[in-house]
Amino acid sequence: MPLLADVAVPVPLSQAFTYEVPAALAGEVRPGARVLCEFHRRKLLGVVLAVSERSAAIDPSKIKPLAALVDARPALPAELLAFLQELAAYYFAPIGEVLRLALPAIEREQVRALKAQGELDGVLDLGRAKQVGGRKVAYASATDVVEEPGTLRGQAAAVLALLRANGEQPVARIEERFGNARSALKKLAERNLVTLDEREPPRDPFFRRAEERDVPPELNAAQAEAAARIDAALAALPAPAGGGEHPASTHQEPRPVGQEARRIAQEPRPSAFLLFGVTGSGKTEVYLRAIKSCLERGRGALVMVPEIALTPQLVARFRARFGDELAVLHSGLSDADRHAMWASLHVGKVRVAIGARSALFAPVPDLGLILVDEEHDGSFKQEEGVRYHARDMALLRAHRAGAVCVLGSATPSIESVALVRRGKLVELRLPDRAHREASLPEVSLVDLRRFGAGPSGDPLISLPLHRALEKTLAAKEQAILFLNRRGFAPSVVCGSCGTLTTCDACSVALTYHRGRRRDARPPSPAGAPAPAAPLEERPEGGRLRCHYCDYAGPLPDRCSSCGARNLLLEGLGTERLEATIAGSFPEARVARLDRDVAGKDRSQAILARMREGKIDILVGTQMVTKGHDLPNVTLVGVVNADAALGLPDFRAAERGFQLLVQVAGRAGRRDRPGRVLIQTRNPEHPAIAFAAAHDVPGFLEREIRDREEVGYPPATRLALLRIDAVDEGVGRGAAAKLAAHARTCPEGLARRVEVLGPSAAPIARLRGRYRFRVLLRARERGPLRGALAALAGLIRDGLDRNARVIIDVDPVAML
Ligand code: ADP
Ligand code: ZN
Repeated sequence: MPLLADVAVPVPLSQAFTYEVPAALAGEVRPGARVLCEFHRRKLLGVVLAVSERSAAIDPSKIKPLAALVDARPALPAELLAFLQELAAYYFAPIGEVLRLALPAIEREQVRALKAQGELDGVLDLGRAKQVGGRKVAYASATDVVEEPGTLRGQAAAVLALLRANGEQPVARIEERFGNARSALKKLAERNLVTLDEREPPRDPFFRRAEERDVPPELNAAQAEAAARIDAALAALPAPAGGGEHPASTHQEPRPVGQEARRIAQEPRPSAFLLFGVTGSGKTEVYLRAIKSCLERGRGALVMVPEIALTPQLVARFRARFGDELAVLHSGLSDADRHAMWASLHVGKVRVAIGARSALFAPVPDLGLILVDEEHDGSFKQEEGVRYHARDMALLRAHRAGAVCVLGSATPSIESVALVRRGKLVELRLPDRAHREASLPEVSLVDLRRFGAGPSGDPLISLPLHRALEKTLAAKEQAILFLNRRGFAPSVVCGSCGTLTTCDACSVALTYHRGRRRDARPPSPAGAPAPAAPLEERPEGGRLRCHYCDYAGPLPDRCSSCGARNLLLEGLGTERLEATIAGSFPEARVARLDRDVAGKDRSQAILARMREGKIDILVGTQMVTKGHDLPNVTLVGVVNADAALGLPDFRAAERGFQLLVQVAGRAGRRDRPGRVLIQTRNPEHPAIAFAAAHDVPGFLEREIRDREEVGYPPATRLALLRIDAVDEGVGRGAAAKLAAHARTCPEGLARRVEVLGPSAAPIARLRGRYRFRVLLRARERGPLRGALAALAGLIRDGLDRNARVIIDVDPVAML
């Protein structure tokens, strides 16, 4: 019988293709390795899913041999490969596209080897795979050898002390401190006190500064209890398979998803936790202990955070505890650095990876622990390409790998709370702030219907907020103002006919951005009443921008509808808020943090200035709400709490609540008490009322009940078919066909799947395409999968080619 390989190729199809393993490569082609294979007369880079000796299910003469092996050592370890296959099945995503999420770049040496075999002639797809490799850097570390007393002096003694205190260091960094480090290191190496090692370096902003090792604090009772429970779960894991080696090639049949789901459902899961700790309760310390325990048991750990660029502080704390033996994965990495990180994990040199969503696919060896910090955060859901949810998939990967999973949050997602109730997650609570003197801030609501504009003249800067800012400044403390709208003015309206200026390509209002200006003067002098500046008073150089497509253009000087020269800038965005605050508090140092100012390293720089006390008032969007630990912030102002609550999305209340609690959590994290002002026109809205009372469990309880009543997750399962087309009729037609097909498939007929729609999406047009949707809803996942499988066939070959359809399983963005 021939030796056959199932290979996934990068085409949008869900199945794998069969190739014959040539005798010369037998024993070398293993699952997880990349190969070159012929596919419709092109040569493609594929990934081996399985290898086995069997008779082919198709005509043997049609089976082609593999052209070449790219990876001598499989790029994807068995554990990761199996997980990716399940992920693809769960989301109805093409396996080739899913594998791409995890594949590393191709090393130059590999390319050279293939060229030497003549295998790269006519290869089309290798071009996309980036090539890296080459640069190496020297590292020094202290050995266990003890010197004879009194034999070391000067720099040699100092360098050795540094290495002993801080662990391995790049030689270049030691040279920054000690001019003559090289000769000192040479001397130390000759005496076996130090070893030198060359490898590819992580040349990354997160590693630029040396981090002093910290001294772990003594845990409080709640932290100790949580750490002990996680430790016990880690202790129960079997011993690791060993050294990050990949198991030998065995044919692994991917397990069917439905059956598997039933098995999981029946299984108790003492190894998945929800760490529910109030803001500032010391969750990070629990993570650090869990990682330590995991490493001590010979296993690796994976840490996922929502936005790594916003969490340099968190990374610094990890480095202070674990040194540079940490792979930090983020979008700002160069290809070479990313590959260096990947490679050091892959060979087991580094055992801890930290990163955003995509870190889910890191090849952590002998995975023992996955931590998901701020698990409620929406950024864990990928909204393009393969639409996976990294938190859900972290639970799956951990479960499959036999690893422990810890989801942490001060405002757990409704989904995770539901998992606790169904016994799938064990809840661990940290009810109090960790710092002895810190307590949760006092929250007051400012009813905007009762309070008018304060001295600034803007109705969104009420008198109570103005006074609170004055007090904070007088006490030399810091304030954060949170506003969920970027730009200067969120809308431009004709003062004569009322027409709103909208994007040509999208059915949304354009935002006026004033852009960077040297002098941050207010648009209207303090005390002036008008919230909308007439055209003549507008500053020069501004642009209209669409927040949904790339459109940016000049502000027209007349209304496109009636022609009147009377366009008004309406509403308050962060740019205008910054300018207004700077004008009202001329003595204060005001800065802004939002996507417009936060370029590559800028957000870190702004947060660093805030921490150093060089900013008095920080104005910003969600970016200011994310887990920052800023000791001197005593006032948090939520400028307009209602902005997020009115969206046509069943998660609007949950998301609004999370934002409010998270931003409030930035205040009073140390000895000085914090204060939070929430401005709203809906003080009775549950999201606002519960947030003001710090009553997270109360909100969760109520929200779960509400979801049950209206039949939304977690009470039900959803899948959203997103349809769009340049032609409105084509889009509508495809949507109607899909909805009809869903209603008449067996699950639809049996009413085990409910079909809502077709309907126009809330944002009916985006980037020039008309958008429609069909929502599938079911009590159980099984029937939903059945219906989606039936639809997948129609999507593949039964629809107008000009309509694009995306299956979004467990959708998050509903707009
Ligand atoms: P969270 O992640 O829950 O918001 P952090 O981990 O940032 O909270 O902790 C808040 C602050 O409390 C940090 O400054 C941290 O150093 C400190 N902290 C954490 N645990 C302890 C402890 N056991 N004793 C003293 N301080 C602690
Ligand atoms: Zn647009």
